Amino acid sequence: MNLFRVRGIQISVHASFLLLFAYVAWEGWSAAAWVGAAWLTGSVLAVFVCVTLHELGHVAAARYFGVRVPRILLLPIGGMAEMESIPRRPREEIIIALAGPAVNYVIIGILMIFVRFPEGWSPFYLELSVAGLGRYLVVANVIMGVFNLLPAFPMDGGRVLRALLAMRMTYVGATQVAAGVGKLVAIAGAGFLIYHGVYMGAALFAFIIFAGERERRAVMRAEQEAEHWLRVRARLSMPIQIKETDTKPPALV
Ligand SMILES: [Zn+2]
Repeated sequence: MNLFRVRGIQISVHASFLLLFAYVAWEGWSAAAWVGAAWLTGSVLAVFVCVTLHELGHVAAARYFGVRVPRILLLPIGGMAEMESIPRRPREEIIIALAGPAVNYVIIGILMIFVRFPEGWSPFYLELSVAGLGRYLVVANVIMGVFNLLPAFPMDGGRVLRALLAMRMTYVGATQVAAGVGKLVAIAGAGFLIYHGVYMGAALFAFIIFAGERERRAVMRAEQEAEHWLRVRARLSMPIQIKETDTKPPALV
């Protein structure tokens, strides 16, 4: 479902968002009827404004390096800036990957001017106040800022790891290693969260394993195609231009 456009970028939400909001409204309702349902729905909407800002951080950095980003897709588990390509220049990939979490830390910095955490405060109670919403958003942004920096490819931290490795080995080798490390981190993370009963978070790690594998395969395929055309070029000895700087997986960042 398309929502609106920001500077030529289509912001879309996945249909499963309706389920998320139905669930959130129900939780709010059982805590404090209409007021609870409206308040919790509004709070979750505010969190997704932060998710969108995180993605726009990636977009701003990507555009700076000349990468087009036609769409940001919001899923119940987070956002995705769909880039037309991912630069194979490690320094650029690192800056694009870090620009998202950097936005979360800026938001935390701004919120902390106004928000106070009283002693004995717990994040597990619904607070129907502006101060409560502020605390809720600080927690949400800390989770986003920390979680995204885990070296779980294709999360932002995993992209940084891949780029650091790519400075010392081939791009394909770096992707293989980063995807392998990412799977281990995701399995460990899912196990930890299942043990603590946080099933939604565990599902997110399962999704990371799936998305990491998909992107690793896309990189391998692009590499095989490039090799194929190099061979063809050698055979024909024609000056075919091969763009070796870009791969085109649907990027989860
Ligand atoms: Zn990100």
